Order: sequence, then structure tokens, then C-alpha cells
Amino acid sequence: MQKQYKTKVSQKILEYIQENSERGFNASEIYAYLTKEEIQVNLATIYRNLDKLAENKLITKFKASSSDSVMYRYAGNRRCQEHLHMQCRVCGRIYHLEGDFMNEIAVYLRDKFGFELECEASSLGGICKDCISRSALN
Ligand SMILES: [Zn+2]
Ligand SMILES: [Zn+2]
Repeated sequence: MQKQYKTKVSQKILEYIQENSERGFNASEIYAYLTKEEIQVNLATIYRNLDKLAENKLITKFKASSSDSVMYRYAGNRRCQEHLHMQCRVCGRIYHLEGDFMNEIAVYLRDKFGFELECEASSLGGICKDCISRSALN
């Protein structure tokens, strides 16, 4: 019984992150979602499941741009360790900076500063164009 219950929690978490693959989540948002779905679970269990999913490379663990909190996003088939991400601090949307320029940035930083960029641990903060136009309307 115990095992079945655990499987369901991690499946639900993965589904949720997958369906919202353009966003990042922290553990309490996932907790709120599971509670709404009437799945009884505590935060410690959620953290355990998130770590397991990250270990299996199904999701990526990263640090939020606007605060020090740890967030998670869907990894999918993307090679997220090879590019940087921008995260909107208003809506939480994530943009994958995929493209050749990513390699140019990494080479530039290496040549200029002798700096090895670790894409997985970094994300750029800012405001996306949707949120900018929304705030311009108000
Ligand atoms: Zn990515
Ligand atoms: Zn936004």
C-alpha cells in the first residue's frame, strides 16, 4: 500500500510540472496543487519526491533568480545543462536560451575571464514581454 501511494505522488508531481513546462515551481506551489487534488501529503514527502525526480533527470533543480529559493522545472529532452535560462520574476515563466550564441557566450567567458560557466546553476532574472505589456496597460 505504502509503495503505491508514493508512486502516485511522484507521478502527479511530474504530470503537473510537465503540463506547465514553461514555468518553474517551488515545493510549496506543488504542495498547494496536490492538496487541491485531494492528495494527502506533507512537504517532506514532496521534497523527497522532487529530489528523486531530479536524480532521474526528469526534472531540473535550479535556484530562482529573484530569491534564494530552490525551484524545479521539467527537463524533457532539452539539454538544459548546456544553456542558460531567463526567468520572469513576475509570472515565473522560463525561457530556454537555446542556440549557437550560447556556445559563444561560454567561449567568451572562458577566454576573457578564464571562467567556466555552469548553466544548470544559473538563471537570468528579469521581466518577460507579456508582463511588461500587462503593466503598461495598468
Ligand atoms: Zn533549458
Ligand atoms: Zn512574465
